[in-house]
Amino acid sequence: MVQKLKLVPYPALVREGGGVCPPARQGNVMEHVGELPGGPEAYELDITPDGIQMTGAPAGILYARITLEQLKLEFPAELPCLHIEDAPRFPYRGFMLDCCRHFFSEPDVMTLIDAASFYKINRFHWHLSDDQGWRVEIEKYPRLTEIGAQTGGAASRPEFYTKRQIRRIVKFAQDRNVEIIPEIDIPGHMTAAIAAYPELGCTGQTMPVATDFGVFPNLICAGREECFKFLTDVLDELCELFPSKTIHIGGDEAAKEHWKSCPYCQAKMRELGFGDEDTLQRWYSDRIIQYLNAKGREARLWSDAFTGNDFQAEQYSIQYWMGNPGNVKYQAALGHKIICSDTAAYYMDYPYAADDRAGSRVSAEDRAGREKISPEEDLRNREKAAEQLARYTHPINLDTILEHDPWPDWLAGGRTPALRSALLGIEAPLWTEYVPDLSTAVQRLFPRLPAVAEVAWTPELSRDNASFDERYESTAAQFARRRLKGAAEKRLWHG
Ligand SMILES: [Zn+2]
Repeated sequence: MVQKLKLVPYPALVREGGGVCPPARQGNVMEHVGELPGGPEAYELDITPDGIQMTGAPAGILYARITLEQLKLEFPAELPCLHIEDAPRFPYRGFMLDCCRHFFSEPDVMTLIDAASFYKINRFHWHLSDDQGWRVEIEKYPRLTEIGAQTGGAASRPEFYTKRQIRRIVKFAQDRNVEIIPEIDIPGHMTAAIAAYPELGCTGQTMPVATDFGVFPNLICAGREECFKFLTDVLDELCELFPSKTIHIGGDEAAKEHWKSCPYCQAKMRELGFGDEDTLQRWYSDRIIQYLNAKGREARLWSDAFTGNDFQAEQYSIQYWMGNPGNVKYQAALGHKIICSDTAAYYMDYPYAADDRAGSRVSAEDRAGREKISPEEDLRNREKAAEQLARYTHPINLDTILEHDPWPDWLAGGRTPALRSALLGIEAPLWTEYVPDLSTAVQRLFPRLPAVAEVAWTPELSRDNASFDERYESTAAQFARRRLKGAAEKRLWHG
């Protein structure tokens, strides 16, 4: 009898074959490329006394290799003979990194994508614009990065990704079956863009890139056509850079004070007969979605972009995080896909426990000269971060994630086949207000992201939460090879 194998995520089906495959035979690997009934990511892995066989489409073969790599961490000498049949529960298993509040270098981003793919995560949602920084090079608007990427105050070195770097990262991710979904947040969270081009805002006033956190009223002006042209130009360059069918256009936390007092926005509302600014936002998002649809792309929006009105555009999906479930359920019934990023279980910036002091906040200048931060100051930063986080978060430990039903209550209530197929999968966002560097990001994501991966991959009948820690620890031996430091202290795993 095979003990629970030390694999994360656990495969759908494992059968013991009897006997072992000695090290001398483990190099005898046959790959049979061809899609299995379970889909492009499904695979079969057979370990026999004579060697190893893998079957599946290219993504399935990649996952068979990863499963084998994890098995070798558990069995460094002889491998037990096994037959594994595996396929994902959900086609979408993602994580998000906010590179605006704190910037992460090209090697940092690659390190995280590589580590996530080891747990069969297949989407990377890249949050590239926000009040605190614009991070993607746009040739037509160079000030976006010259000015909008200065996060250590004016005259600091801009931190952003060049197009060359982005192409390298996209390729790196593709090699690991990870699709990158870029996000430009529209119409809110625009302070960095408006700092670069004040004419994009409603007031026309100059303002610095935000260094504080929160929700700002600095929206792109919805009343002037040149602002819309700016966005379509940016989206053109983004679509050229990213092959993903999905482009995320944000839509969250749009505080509309400026729209309310802007003559252009108000004139547009009168022209279109809109009674409130929420309708203006719906119309504006709809135009952007239609623009993307015409380019053969699909838009994704955060769930609070849906304020009860129908969209004329057809190709869009919804990332649910909190709030208005009624509107999201309505969209699901229309046939739009849902990604679940419920704050109840999937927000990776939330602490593991009330006494988790891993988060902190460090300016770009301080980060550059990290040694200047004294241990006392570091501790003060951490205490302050914990205090801030406690105001709007709750602890999320491994049990929270493993025991959480990925079907939000309001969708579970309608577990009809139509609503069932609406849930495409799960995405775990890592917002980085208090995540200043790679080691803190790793602390936040590991082992919580592998737990999310297990919920999203393993069929419910094959799940075993009790053995998760032990299985994860075996796979974490790969951390040394992947140059990862900072996985969460074990005492925090269960709160
Ligand atoms: Zn305006």
